[in-house]
Amino acid sequence: MAVTIDVWRITGQSQIDSYVGRWAELAVVLVNALAVDHAQGRTRPLPATAPERLAALEPALADWRERHPRAPGDGGPPDTGPPDTGRLAEAAMALRPAFLAGPYAGVAELNALLVRHGAVPNLHGEPPVLAFHAVEADVAGAMAADAGTALAMVIGVGQGERLASCQATGCEMVFFDVTRNASRRFCGLACQNRAKAAAYRARRAGPAKKSTT
Ligand SMILES: [Zn+2]
Repeated sequence: MAVTIDVWRITGQSQIDSYVGRWAELAVVLVNALAVDHAQGRTRPLPATAPERLAALEPALADWRERHPRAPGDGGPPDTGPPDTGRLAEAAMALRPAFLAGPYAGVAELNALLVRHGAVPNLHGEPPVLAFHAVEADVAGAMAADAGTALAMVIGVGQGERLASCQATGCEMVFFDVTRNASRRFCGLACQNRAKAAAYRARRAGPAKKSTT
């Protein structure tokens, strides 16, 4: 009797998951830092110069690196060196539509980004590891290719609804929803509390308004 072995159990599905999770979270960082001009009820101009973009990006990138330390041999781009912020901002704009509602949201933009940044599965490094950016890619190009590939993988396995935007008024921050049944609605506690307070005020205002008409 032949015994079949699930190859993903050997290599570790969790490695694949953490790879996709890490780079999908990088996409979130790029979009929120460089492509969102309404955050938590406040309007803020998009950073337009290299120093402004770096200032917006660096704390978020540091936090991302802490929350998602790279696994040995995960094949991602180098974590060091100053990125080309202009190309990162352009990539962030192309990644953003994937977080909007709708089954085809961001698909065309993602496909174009993957072509533009030469994203292609390949083995490089010693020992060889799987990566989705070309060997010669710089930090910005590699980040764009890896983040874009991760979003494409999330969408491609039918989990695109997990790429979402905050539902609070005055906030367009995006997030990768990893809750069990994809039920997350807000970018964070601040917006959740704002939305709760607004709903409470609306409930209180509702009957009072009616009685005056
Ligand atoms: Zn929000």
